Amino acid sequence: MGYRGHYKKFDLERWFSQLLENTAIMDMASSVDDAYDRLATLMAGAAGVDSCIIFQQEVDNRFKAVARHAVAEGFDRAVLTGEAAESLKKKMPAITGAKELGLPDTEANRRTRFLCMPILFHKRPASIAILFSPGKSVEFPADTIERLSIIAVHGAHTIDELSYVDELKRRRDELRRLYEIQRRITQTIDFEKATESIVENAPYITKLKYCMIYLLDPAGRNIVSVKAPTEVERKFGKLTFRLDELVASRIAMDERKPLFIEDAPAYPNISQRIVRMLGFKSAIVLPLIAREKVLGVMWLYSTDRKVTFSEDDRRSAMALADQAAIVIDNARIFKELEESYEKLKDLDKMKMDFFTLISHELRNPLAVIRGFTELLYDGMLGPLNDRQKEKLQRIMENVDKMADMVGKMSEVSIVETKRYPLERVPVSLSDMVGGLVREMSFLFKNKRITLKVDIPQSLPLVEVDREKMEQVLLNLLNNALKYTPEGGEVSIAARDQVNEIVVSVHDTGIGIPRKDLDKIFSGFYHAGYKLSYEYKGPGLGLAVSRRIVEGHGGRIWAESEEGKGSTFYFTIPKSPIIKR
Ligand code: ADP
Repeated sequence: MGYRGHYKKFDLERWFSQLLENTAIMDMASSVDDAYDRLATLMAGAAGVDSCIIFQQEVDNRFKAVARHAVAEGFDRAVLTGEAAESLKKKMPAITGAKELGLPDTEANRRTRFLCMPILFHKRPASIAILFSPGKSVEFPADTIERLSIIAVHGAHTIDELSYVDELKRRRDELRRLYEIQRRITQTIDFEKATESIVENAPYITKLKYCMIYLLDPAGRNIVSVKAPTEVERKFGKLTFRLDELVASRIAMDERKPLFIEDAPAYPNISQRIVRMLGFKSAIVLPLIAREKVLGVMWLYSTDRKVTFSEDDRRSAMALADQAAIVIDNARIFKELEESYEKLKDLDKMKMDFFTLISHELRNPLAVIRGFTELLYDGMLGPLNDRQKEKLQRIMENVDKMADMVGKMSEVSIVETKRYPLERVPVSLSDMVGGLVREMSFLFKNKRITLKVDIPQSLPLVEVDREKMEQVLLNLLNNALKYTPEGGEVSIAARDQVNEIVVSVHDTGIGIPRKDLDKIFSGFYHAGYKLSYEYKGPGLGLAVSRRIVEGHGGRIWAESEEGKGSTFYFTIPKSPIIKR
């Protein structure tokens, strides 16, 4: 008894140390493949046989070898039948012949006994280890099988863990590549360059060597452009396709789903003319969708070999198409914006030309009308009665208004065409504003509007065209007066802010709708319908002011709340010479 006990204890120790050693060997595996190789060697050692093959399930009972310990050749694939198949199904070991494993029917194989050891995984298809000594009918005692099961369980565990690590690594690589391509293709907003960059960089993301992009016209009825890699264009010239010819593209776009075509020459829904012409072997067709609109389609294809698409390949291709769609959409929007901007600039130029023409052509006739009316009014051409005089007075007033408007128009056009001379002199803002306020104070008093002035004497002098700058202040003060009801308040202030002086004219008037705030500076614009109730000017004062301010290198803008009042601001850059 004692002796047996002692012997068993000794055996157990050996058994544990062996187990630990095995564990250590498995734990050192660096990849799934390496782990399979180690497992095959360990199992062969534990069973005391020469060879071990580990087969992994492909489909149903078909298996492919993933590790082969001391197997010279052959045995790449196996088809499990009979007891071998049962063994896997029941998750139990079994001893079989070569036939049940679908192995070559050789003399040696016929003599060999094979032990089938299922290896079960948590998340991947099952594997099976086949242990044998070629040409020999080896015995497999129960305790050997028991040990092998333990090794198999631990091996499977290690392989599972490693496959997670592999998966993580693959994902990380994919993300890196996606990030890199995103970086490359988003560097440009130029439409041509953006598509070119996608086409040239796509092969870094997928296994497919070429990328082509077909884009639809905005109505989605025609292919308007085809972008192919330079290499392809060099070979085939500029590619053009008709939409009705592109079978696979249309399916992808209509169904808004990618097509994964592993065998293009055998694929029914594809134009075989194009397959032959470009030499497609495998292809992925991806609809390009941005803001829910199909912009076109992206082709990724190989010409040198057939490709089997893994989950990763599919995911990367789809991620690439998503990014490409956004980049193309943005580039298109940008291009459209640029075009609209050009058009607007043209329109603006036309407006200015019109201003120049009209102001020039009206000036003389107006002067003539004014002159003759004055002659009539003064009685130089014969005596007039009071009614006639009164009407002539009205004519003169209106001619003056018109002349004023023509003057402003010519001013706007002159500034715009850059023939706008500024005679800059050092000016004290507080003196300039003081003078204006004195001249205008009676107007404010008449309307019972309080006028406050806050221009510190300490402000540095500004270098401006005095007359022009006075015109800006006058326009702003006039507007404040005009658009502020009786009893309100207007204040003018100036502040020293680092490199510029900011002047503000605040009123408690009717205000300006937010949407009009930018437009009032562009000329001929009246904010909101309510504002016309009192006075409707030509809508040029602010346009002229803007041009004068900008001519001085400053900015002008307004803030306002409807019904509460407005504040107009403009800046005058400090002169480098007289900065204090
Ligand atoms: P005008 O006063 O001759 O119409 P402006 O160019 O000076 O032309 O002003 C353009 C428009 O901006 C005005 O018609 C008016 O709608 C709005 N506006 C300008 N100043 C004020 C203000 N202080 N308060 C309210 N609305 C203003």
